[in-house]
Amino acid sequence: MLLLVDSHLDLAWNALSFNRDQTLSVEALRRGEAHMTDELSRGRLTTSLPELRRANAGVVVATLLARGGPEQKPKERYGRTDLDFATQAIAHATAHGHLAYYRLLEWQGHLRMLRSVRDLDRHLEDWRRDPSRTPIGYVLSMEGADPIVTPAQVGEWWSLGLRFVGPAHYGRSHYAYGTGVDGPLSPQGVELLREMRRAGMALDATHLSDASFRAALEVFDGPVLASHHNCRALVPGDRQLADEQIAALIERDAVIGAALDAWMLHPGWERGKTSPQVVSLEAVADHIDRVCQIAGDARHAAIGSDLDGGFGTEQTPRDLDTFADLHKLEGILARRGYSSEDVAAVFHGNWLRFFRRALPAE
Ligand SMILES: [Zn+2]
Repeated sequence: MLLLVDSHLDLAWNALSFNRDQTLSVEALRRGEAHMTDELSRGRLTTSLPELRRANAGVVVATLLARGGPEQKPKERYGRTDLDFATQAIAHATAHGHLAYYRLLEWQGHLRMLRSVRDLDRHLEDWRRDPSRTPIGYVLSMEGADPIVTPAQVGEWWSLGLRFVGPAHYGRSHYAYGTGVDGPLSPQGVELLREMRRAGMALDATHLSDASFRAALEVFDGPVLASHHNCRALVPGDRQLADEQIAALIERDAVIGAALDAWMLHPGWERGKTSPQVVSLEAVADHIDRVCQIAGDARHAAIGSDLDGGFGTEQTPRDLDTFADLHKLEGILARRGYSSEDVAAVFHGNWLRFFRRALPAE
């Protein structure tokens, strides 16, 4: 089974917000919450650590996720009491809670933080030799930068292992406009990007609004990724990348991770209403293929599943029951004429190349 690198999982947020022990199997977690009705995804989750192992997902990007921006989306659409906080200080503490969870999972031998190319190479060697005895490697990222209370704090986060930062999530953060709103970087946002560059962090362009996306690419000349992002030409909406944004990312040698949220895969999807029957993994291949067609090669498309981003099989392609079903994409891409080298690039090669460029040597 191909090594799978997934550039976007909210493992800690999912654990802390949904009260899910990530060390249990998907089946056990589903059984345990089958009676719950507080969330649509109850009993339908697709992802946990044993499932990542089953899928040979030896390297992932794991997020810290907490919003504390001045303009958050109205509660009925995006707002969650476990995501939207009154101040950056509270978002900061929440992100530290997420980090505490990752650190405990490391101490227990489930995870291993990858801070550098040296860490990554050692980890891949261990994983190839004996995946069953090797912790899952993770690069630490932040989705929405409000937990960084001021740009001067970037260095401290760097020393905690933070390597990739997306300045905004939904709504407006203190640094940038995100999904659902639009406007430029704030002066602190410009300063944040300068500090990130100085520290050696990569910029995650996912969730940036169009104006903030443009400004961020101008200000920031370091490595850029789009961790979980699909194509606007296929699914209209500001959550997706326009073709010219994809071209601008490719110009920067970025990698774009295809996301599995059906809302980002199927036009006109209505949360809680549209049936997952309308969308299959072929749609994921459509988004991957569009990035490849714009690039003229298969070096910029990859997987950033977001499969634990607050939804379950009620909002994933019908032929995906659990995370390991991502491997069905191997056959789908092969049937579309992708060579085995290209399929391997999408599954891991592109992210590993990007990580080797974006992470510090040691
Ligand atoms: Zn996201």
